[in-house]
Amino acid sequence: MPCTRYRTAITAHIEGDPLPQGVTEEELVTHLTACPDCTRWSKRLRALREATDDLLRRRRSGAPAKPV
Ligand SMILES: [Zn+2]
Repeated sequence: MPCTRYRTAITAHIEGDPLPQGVTEEELVTHLTACPDCTRWSKRLRALREATDDLLRRRRSGAPAKPV
């Protein structure tokens, strides 16, 4: 299976969505172990996602963006 297929699954996994048809979590983990490119890619996506979540959370709670 090509990397793009797994990357769709990784995105779904990080977003908390169900994995696309034809990809199991086990396959995803196996691919990540074997593919440093996808591992790096998923780490970057996760970091980006966390940063966005953090920003949205802070905005929603009305707390200042920068601590004083
Ligand atoms: Zn890959």
